[in-house]
Amino acid sequence: MPYYEMSLENQREYVCQNDFTVAENALGAWLIAFLDVDWTDLIKKTESLREDHEGTLSKFRWMQEKQRRQWELTYSERVVAWYHGLKETLSSRHPLLKLLVEQQIRNRLLSALQPKNLAELRMDVLHYVEVLDGTRAHSEQTMLSPMDLRPWLLEAEQIFFTLKTCQAQLLPLLDQVMGGDPEKDHGILQRYHQMQQKDLSFQCMVEQSYRLLSPQFRITSVHRIYRSDLLKEIAPQMDQLEGHTYMVTDALEALTLWEFEMICANEILLRRCSYCNRYFRPYSVVSCYCDRPVEGKGEKTCKEIGAMSRHQQKVNQDEAKKLYRKVCNRTQMAAQRRKGQYPDILRRYRQVQLRGKELLEQVEAGTMTFSQFQQQFDKKPGELLGIRYARN
Ligand SMILES: [Zn+2]
Repeated sequence: MPYYEMSLENQREYVCQNDFTVAENALGAWLIAFLDVDWTDLIKKTESLREDHEGTLSKFRWMQEKQRRQWELTYSERVVAWYHGLKETLSSRHPLLKLLVEQQIRNRLLSALQPKNLAELRMDVLHYVEVLDGTRAHSEQTMLSPMDLRPWLLEAEQIFFTLKTCQAQLLPLLDQVMGGDPEKDHGILQRYHQMQQKDLSFQCMVEQSYRLLSPQFRITSVHRIYRSDLLKEIAPQMDQLEGHTYMVTDALEALTLWEFEMICANEILLRRCSYCNRYFRPYSVVSCYCDRPVEGKGEKTCKEIGAMSRHQQKVNQDEAKKLYRKVCNRTQMAAQRRKGQYPDILRRYRQVQLRGKELLEQVEAGTMTFSQFQQQFDKKPGELLGIRYARN
C-alpha cells in the first residue's frame, strides 16, 4: 500500500492520514512546508550518525567485548534519539511530513530487516520499532546492532537526498513563475508557459514524476476515507458521501511537483517573505511578510516585525495609490456617462476624488492600513457618487 494519498480540488489540498481521516489545507500548504525543510541539515545529521559507527568500530579491535557492547547500546539509543528528533522537527509541520517520518522512514526498518518467512520474524526489530513509536523503553533487550541500523540510516539519507534535489530544482522554477511585477508582467500562467517552453529539464522532470502517480477514486464522508478493500466499514451517514480522485504514490517529490503545477494552473500567488525570504501565500496584495515566528525574537512573527518597516509602508502606499487611481477612473467614467441624467454629477465626482485623497494621505502618514483604505474607498461608482442606477 503506498504511503501518500493526496487530492487537489477547488483550490484545496486533501491528504489522507494514517488513520484514514483527511487533513484539509489551502492549496500550496504542502509546497510551502516542503520548501521550508532544511534537507541538507537532515542529511548531514543522518550521515554523521552513520559514519560515526564506521570510525569507532575500527578502534574496537583493541577494546574489550564489554566496552564494545556498551558502545553499541549507546549507539542504538542515539539512533532512537535521531528518529525522535526527526519526528519532532517534521511531523507537526504538515500531514505529509508526518507520513514521511512515521510511516515511510519508520517502515523501511521493518521491511529491510523482516524476512519473508514468518518463522524467522525478528522480535528484536519489532521491539525496536515499538521504542521508536514510544510504546516501549530502550534497553539492552530492545537494542539493535549498528550492523542493522546502518543500512536503515542510509535509506533515510537517500530519501532526504531525493527530496533535497527536488527542492533545489523547484525553487528557481517557482521564482520564475512567481517573481516579477504582476501589474507590468503577464500573469502566473503565462510565466509558467514561458518557463515550460524554454526549460527542457523541467519537462523531463514532470514527465518522470507523473509516471509515479496513480489516480484512485475514493469515497469520503466528513473528512474520512472509506475503503472497502481494506476495512469493510460503511460510512455512517450515507447521504454525506463524496467522491474524490486521489493521487497515490510512494514518491513524495512527485506529489510536490504536481502541487506546483496545480498552483500555476489556479494562478495562486506565492510570495517570498521580505524578512525571512521564504515562500508564503499572501492574504492580500500588500502582504509582504509571512506568519512564521522569527528565531530569537520571542513570539514575534515576520509579519509583526515587518508591519512598521519602511518596505511595508512603501508597499501599502504604492498599492493605495494604484487603487485610488483605479477607483477614480471608473467613477469618472460612470459620471461622464450619466451627465445628462444628473447635472451635478461631475461636482459629486470631484468630492469623491477629494475624499479619496484625504484617505490616501492617511495611508501615507501611516495612520491607516491598506485594508482600511480599501474598505472605505473601493466601492461601486453608484455608491460613491450617491446615485442609484435606473434598472436597465
Ligand atoms: Zn517570513
